[in-house]
Amino acid sequence: MKRQGSIFRSNRISVAFTSKLTSVIEKVEGRKPSASTPHLLATTSEPRPSKDSSRSGGVQDDFDSAIPAEAPTEQYLILENKYPAIRALRTDAEIGDGIWRCCHCRHENILTHYKGAFPFKYLRCNRCDRTMCSDCHSSEILSSLPYGMVQAPRPIGDVRYMHVCTTCGLSHRAEMEGTTLDFYGITCAGCGTTSYGDWPRYHIGNNEPYRRDPNASFAKLIDARADDAARVAFHWVITNDDTRPLSG
Ligand SMILES: [Zn+2]
Ligand SMILES: [Zn+2]
Ligand SMILES: [Zn+2]
Repeated sequence: MKRQGSIFRSNRISVAFTSKLTSVIEKVEGRKPSASTPHLLATTSEPRPSKDSSRSGGVQDDFDSAIPAEAPTEQYLILENKYPAIRALRTDAEIGDGIWRCCHCRHENILTHYKGAFPFKYLRCNRCDRTMCSDCHSSEILSSLPYGMVQAPRPIGDVRYMHVCTTCGLSHRAEMEGTTLDFYGITCAGCGTTSYGDWPRYHIGNNEPYRRDPNASFAKLIDARADDAARVAFHWVITNDDTRPLSG
């Protein structure tokens, strides 16, 4: 299986497109009756109760004690936003550490990094319930890793690599043998499925660009998706070139 590079290329942003979209989002938010809903995440962070039967008590215990792994947003990051006063209305709990955009239904889901064995809990789309896959796009907090053996320096704190059960979407922090990341033969703590190294894998990156300007990160995901679509269309033209004469 071949996956080309990072699905999320922050260097290839269309600046005009990004700034235009950001201003649209800000206008929409300005119309909301209440911009600050700090209780929102506290009530929605639990996985859907319909999946109760697939979870063991151990996972639930870990969830109950899960504390955010990333530090609170520094004031200077908020001040770097184009509209710092608007940005300051939103709490870390509301904003999370990043977003992933479901490749099936395009819903944007908030990512929050927690300490412990299940760094992003269940990565299932809040709209269509599908699990996060390698075709979904995410902000800087998660970037895709290639399959195969992966070597990495030993971390000082928690390992910043993880993989996602393809059956139930539970995220599992990778284990390390020396400097080799172990993605093989893991049994999912949520549903009992075994990984044969085939679960999508991610490096847990940085939340700073997103915390500074969540709307810009969202715009970049739109752009990344448009980029993917353009590449698919180009591929189609190349592969169909000799079988399909030009019309007109
Ligand atoms: Zn979805
Ligand atoms: Zn996907
Ligand atoms: Zn599972």
